Amino acid sequence: MEVKSSSSDNRAVAYIRVSTKGQDEKFSPEVQEDSCRQYARNNHLKIIKEFREARSGWKLNARVEFYKMLDFIKTQKILNVIFAFGDRISRNTEDYVLLKGTKVRFHNAISGTSFDPNDPNDFEETAAFEHDQVDAKKSSAKTRRKVIDSQSKKVEKGEYPAAAPLGYTYKPEMVGGKWKNIISVDPERGRFIKELFKLYSTGEYTLREITEKMKSLGLRSKHDRVLMHEEIRRYLKTPFYYGRFRWGGKEYDNQGTYEPIISKALFDTVQEVLAGKSTVVKWGRDFKYKGLLQCHLCGCAMVGDEQNKTLKSTGKTKTYVYYHCTSGKKTEFYQAKFGQDRCPLYHRPYYTEKEVDEFLEREIESLYIDPETYGWVRQQLESDYQNLKELNEAEIESLKKEQSRIDGQESSLILLIAEASRDSAKDKIRGLAEKKVEELESRKAEIEIRLEELQRGEEAVSLEEIEDTLELSKALKDKYLAASPEKRRKLNNLMFRNVLVTEKNSLIIPEGEENYISAVPLYIVWNEPFKSLWEIGFIHGMDEAKAEARERAETEKSAKIKKWRGRRDLNSRPLA
Ligand SMILES: [Zn+2]
Repeated sequence: MEVKSSSSDNRAVAYIRVSTKGQDEKFSPEVQEDSCRQYARNNHLKIIKEFREARSGWKLNARVEFYKMLDFIKTQKILNVIFAFGDRISRNTEDYVLLKGTKVRFHNAISGTSFDPNDPNDFEETAAFEHDQVDAKKSSAKTRRKVIDSQSKKVEKGEYPAAAPLGYTYKPEMVGGKWKNIISVDPERGRFIKELFKLYSTGEYTLREITEKMKSLGLRSKHDRVLMHEEIRRYLKTPFYYGRFRWGGKEYDNQGTYEPIISKALFDTVQEVLAGKSTVVKWGRDFKYKGLLQCHLCGCAMVGDEQNKTLKSTGKTKTYVYYHCTSGKKTEFYQAKFGQDRCPLYHRPYYTEKEVDEFLEREIESLYIDPETYGWVRQQLESDYQNLKELNEAEIESLKKEQSRIDGQESSLILLIAEASRDSAKDKIRGLAEKKVEELESRKAEIEIRLEELQRGEEAVSLEEIEDTLELSKALKDKYLAASPEKRRKLNNLMFRNVLVTEKNSLIIPEGEENYISAVPLYIVWNEPFKSLWEIGFIHGMDEAKAEARERAETEKSAKIKKWRGRRDLNSRPLA
């Protein structure tokens, strides 16, 4: 049978596929090649390039040549593609759609037929071909379903079907005639992970600091890369390390399938530190601002202490509560930063409790919203909230889809890694697969953090809460000022994440928040929804704040100068 070609341009490419198992086995690459050449000769086509998929155990890698061919067809404007392996040119419908988009004519060398999927005259052939493609897709969906089912069974038995986190390694082992990845503790990195949890649980490190610390100790990714603080944060939130794991939105017990690195108690402490609810303070009784004040110079906690002072005028002794830095870092840190062994805020009794009280009272007072602006603020908040909510929901949905896609990809890669581990000739493939897993893991970390942010935002800034807070803000000042110390401590913890403290004549400019600065040496990091409320109603511009600080410094300076001049004038009066 004479087969028409697309046009007078008789250039063609041949696509040779390497079959794995099953129906296509009878068409070896050599048979395919011969058939294609034979077909070309019979139909006046000229094969100018052959594309032959390399034999590979890695399914994901198997279509490399297909994409090369696609490129070639596009750039060389090739109009004919010949194949010789049964009905399907590709196992993947998307590939077929891509090929269809090139205006190429399909030639099946086995059946000796051809068709142009974009030509209405070839409708029947095209439909038959596409039907096969759909079948192929269905069968691949079935395979995927099987994979998911077998994963669920694994999970129920406490076996983790995805990549174990940093600190663990896989040992491929033959179990019941099948290769399995046995998860075991990586001797070196496992120790680092334990150290990471221990150090962070002290509450003395910010995430950036603990990241630096771990870097200096030598912790690296599986591929020897320095870790980012988002990754460290994710590890700190990974229950896998104490024996539970998340899968498909649920949490499972590992049922002893691998050895935990840390205890649940340590994990829980770390979660508290991460949530900023930690009240880890090394010593001291239960002071009013315990766990709330943080040294801005070194990031350590500020603790309360007592000092007795005897008033000269009356001779009576009074006890003062003041706060100073715990100076909990290594001497090297303070030497490098301040040229001394301890934090500057460690040495002196810097802030008395009374000063902190006054500062917070002042800030609370400014939270008052007058009735006129109340309506406007409320309206703004409501529309902002609606817009934000819709955007958030869309983003959450798309992130969750990406997450499950990654989970699927990871499971196939893990199987591949196990398979490749049997054969040293496959080291390269294994390396590539492991690298890909690491990339996916790091993307997963990003997704999780973003999802958490989005979900936390939703919880924290609910409309009712905004309204409640607005109502509360009307009376907050009176309530706060009238509260007992115990009650006030509770309110503090509710409203503030923490209060940053620096030297008395300094100005705190929090990182990334240059628009919301406070012209004072104590800076409140608000909890939601107070944070939003604060930002909407009472924004201090940078210039405004600096001017305020300058003014304050000037006033203090001139007061000092006055005193000093007074004495000096007496002593240095020129001789008459
Ligand atoms: Zn300090």
